[in-house]
Amino acid sequence: MAKTIKTTARSLNDYGRVAGDHTIEEIRALAAPFRGAEVLHINSTAYGGGVSEILYTLVPLMKDVGLAATWTVIEAPPAFFDFTKALHNALQGMAGQDLTTGLDRYLATNEHEAAHFSGTPDFVVVHDPQPAPLASHLRERFGSKTKWIWRCHIDLSSPAEEAWDLVRPFVERYDAAIFTMSAYAKEGLRVPRLAMIPPSIDPLSPKNVGMPVGTAREIVAGYGVDPSRPLLVQVSRFDPWKDPLGVVDAYRMVKREIPGVQLALIGSMAADDPEGIAYYRMSAEHAAGDPDVHILSNLNGVGNADVNAFQTAADVVVQKSIREGFGLTVSEGLWKGRPVVAGDVGGIPLQVEEGKSGFLVKSVEECAEKILYLLSNPEKARQMGLAGKEHVRRRFLSTRHLADYLRLFSALAQDRVAGAGEVAV
Ligand code: UDP
Repeated sequence: MAKTIKTTARSLNDYGRVAGDHTIEEIRALAAPFRGAEVLHINSTAYGGGVSEILYTLVPLMKDVGLAATWTVIEAPPAFFDFTKALHNALQGMAGQDLTTGLDRYLATNEHEAAHFSGTPDFVVVHDPQPAPLASHLRERFGSKTKWIWRCHIDLSSPAEEAWDLVRPFVERYDAAIFTMSAYAKEGLRVPRLAMIPPSIDPLSPKNVGMPVGTAREIVAGYGVDPSRPLLVQVSRFDPWKDPLGVVDAYRMVKREIPGVQLALIGSMAADDPEGIAYYRMSAEHAAGDPDVHILSNLNGVGNADVNAFQTAADVVVQKSIREGFGLTVSEGLWKGRPVVAGDVGGIPLQVEEGKSGFLVKSVEECAEKILYLLSNPEKARQMGLAGKEHVRRRFLSTRHLADYLRLFSALAQDRVAGAGEVAV
């Protein structure tokens, strides 16, 4: 049965010292017309993954500015998630996914879960494809007051046709769709309103809250890193698209010039994720016992504060992705005031301003060359890190995310006055 998720209270005022008091005032003004408005977020998991991480911040912040925000997770059996994983891959363009086995379960679960919802919220935000069919079940029951928003966190630009044919009728029952960036929106999608809203990092979470460099160095030393020598850090899942093997190759090229350099590859994985564990092993084999390569994961006890420490202690943060959704680790690295060398893919170019806060690279050689440049020009590296931090402050903190939602709510409230469906962007 669908479950309401409890979140810890947060105060928007606390964010003033990092986001600027003017931002807080702007948000309060945007929120004022929505005092008491009911906002219901729905997704399919309370733990793991960027969506839940964002909701743990966004929902309490919405409450703090006066909205009656709640978050519900639908309950589904493993077979549902097997199907939605295939659907997710197919929607991101992967061919050959089996969308027959489990389809009944997908539809039946959504129908079954829909039975547990009642009331007349002002806004319902449904995240990703797993619960997307809910609008079809609940629109009539909730009535015309409720505005339905589908928040798509994935790249829908070139889906496998059968996946899109399946999901499209569900999505077109919404009043608005949010994509991370325009390149990820599906051309021809018919919803009255489209919004482009990138994700965000929470500057006050244990992963991102300001940490003194001395503390960070002590923490990484505890994992065997020598804090007196240069450190490269990549934080990401052990996955071919994150190219950990390419990072090791780039590190080796740098090491020929700067023998003291060290590399930390930090990755999280589930104990029951065979793909992640296999790729973790492959990365370790590729490092071939080099004592200056530290391959660590949550299975070694690396938690959020440790990720913070590694990013803070890094001389250069690397995110050498070959394919990427948004790449939140890039904003995380920049937020620590570190220059970032990252793959020129997905949402990364929104975050790294080429030559200003880091470098966008397309190959191992280029990656090594830019790392060498930064390690050899520490003052330039420092300035780039600071520029990146300012960019993240303006564009990728939770406060901007909250403001974007409130702007969308305003636009939808005006659509209501104009007559639903008449306004398209
Ligand atoms: N992450 C973490 N520990 C790890 C590896 C990753 O906490 O060992 C976090 C990372 O800090 C970031 C998220 O997982 O917040 C990954 O998000 P991103 O958008 O970079 O990549 P995704 O995994 O969603 O493709």
